[in-house]
Order: sequence, then C-alpha cells, then structure tokens
Amino acid sequence: MLDSTAQPIPAATATAVVELDLSGRSALVTGGASGIGLACARRLACAGAKVTLADVDVERLAEAAEALGAQPWCIDLDDTAPLAGLKLDVDILVNNAGRQHVAPVEEFDPATFASMLRVMLEAPFLLVRAALPAMYERRYGRIVNMSSVHGLRASEFKAAYVAAKHGLEGLSKVVALESASRGVTCNTISPSYVRTPLVEQQISAQARYHDLEEAEVVGKIMLREPAIKRLAEPEEIAELVAYLCSPAGSFITGSSLSIDGGWQAR
Ligand code: NAD
Repeated sequence: MLDSTAQPIPAATATAVVELDLSGRSALVTGGASGIGLACARRLACAGAKVTLADVDVERLAEAAEALGAQPWCIDLDDTAPLAGLKLDVDILVNNAGRQHVAPVEEFDPATFASMLRVMLEAPFLLVRAALPAMYERRYGRIVNMSSVHGLRASEFKAAYVAAKHGLEGLSKVVALESASRGVTCNTISPSYVRTPLVEQQISAQARYHDLEEAEVVGKIMLREPAIKRLAEPEEIAELVAYLCSPAGSFITGSSLSIDGGWQAR
C-alpha cells in the first residue's frame, strides 16, 4: 500500500551512517516498539547507548527489546497520573510515542481528542519534567521531541494531531530556554510522511474524507506537498535524532528541524 510509484532518488541505506559515539550514555525512547521510535532506538544502541524502550504494545515491545538488547518498559502514556511523581535518570530522552486519528472537527470524538493530547503533549511534558533534574546534575542532557510537519503546518481532518504537535513545538522551546545554561538541549524534529504503521493505518480514513480511492492517498495527499516525491524512511529520521543526541549537537537547541522533503519550501 505504501509503495509509491515515484521514487526518483532512493533513501540512504541504514549502513550509510555517520560515526557517533554514545557509549556510556543512557537513552529512553517512547513508542520504541515500532516505526520511527524503533529506528531511533536501533540507531542509538548502534552508537553505544544503553537504551530503554517504552511502549504500550506488550508483544512488539518484548520483541524489539530482545532484538536490540534493550530494556523494555511497558507503559500506557495515555495514563498520565502516575507520571507526575516519576523520576528518570537518563542522558537522552526521545519523546516519540504517538498516534493519528482522521475525522472532521464536527465528527471528532472528544475522548479521542483528549487522549491524543495526553499521549503526545502531556506525557512528553511529564517525562521531560521527570528527566531534567538528573540531566542538570550531570550537566548533560539531550531531549528530542518527535513533532511533525503538522507541528508547523495544518491539514484537514487532523485536529488533535495538529494541536498536540503545535503544543509540543512550544513546550520544546520553553524547555530549551530553561535548560540552555545547564548542559541540556531540547529540540523537535518535524518529518513529513514516513513509511510506518501510523501512516498505513490512516489510509482508509484519508480516502473516505478526501473522497479518493485508497490507492490514491499516498500520491494525492501524502506526496502532494513534499518536493521529493517519496515517503521518508524511519532510518533517515533516526540519523538526525542520533546526531542531536551526540556531543556534536551541543549548540543546537530550541530548534524545530524539518525533515520533510522540501514540504515547507513552498
Ligand atoms: P508507529 O505507529 O509505527 O509507532 C508509534 C508507537 O507509539 C507504537 O509502537 C505504539 O504502540 C506507541 N504508542 C502509541 N500510543 C501509546 C501510548 N499510549 N503509550 C505508549 N506507547 C504508545 O508510528 P510512527 O510513525 O513511528 O510514529 C512515531 C512518532 O513519529 C509519532 O509521534 C508520530 O506523530 C511521529 N511522526 C510520524 C510520521 C509518519 O509519517 N509516520 C510523520 C511525522 C511525525
């Protein structure tokens, strides 16, 4: 379904990675059992970091953690109350867990809207809050919040997702300002469509509300704005995450780094 016919220039392969050394560093990646989170976890582990994967999907989590030699943390980030008292001791936090729901505002289920804001905005706030004290103490921290081109631009039928990601962009800048003098950086990454289950799962709803055939959704909706007419690969996003998490990323903070195939050049 996600194979687009137009693939003029292939994505970089996973073997073409930049040398980064994260040995001795610990990392927590939320939504680490699938898609972009799994690619990030793999890349950070490959650079030598000790990785913990947090995810609600028990089976995929166990499988991913075993494959990477990572620590699994089964947690539902929709249940934010227990996160208020949490203390985390990690050098790197990648707030990546997320989901999509496609519906016009007047049909958008209010409970789904609230849940998406909890998972993609409130939980990242609470995890950052839990992680900062230890990062401040050792004067090293890297926080990467997985936003989206929809953190900077809107699309129809994505009220909760666009609202949560715009909120995440704001949260990230506040954290960057507060933490700048204490060895911590905080940034967002804003990809366009990436080849993952999250994209696959929205195709039927996108087709319904845009009045298209399912086979037309990738070409007519997902690849309409990017200048590069293909989906991004999770490994391309992970490479940027790993760079930001390394010592080399020390002067990048408060930024929203677009990796969107030229979407916003228009
Ligand atoms: P994915 O569906 O492959 O992975 C998302 C992971 O988050 C899953 O493993 C899922 O179990 C986990 N998750 C969802 N709800 C959770 C919860 N309540 N508690 C704990 N874990 C939960 O999706 P993906 O495409 O890899 O998305 C990862 C992030 O990237 C999301 O924040 C998404 O918004 C963002 N993003 C994705 C795209 C894209 O096109 N795929 C583009 C821009 C941004």
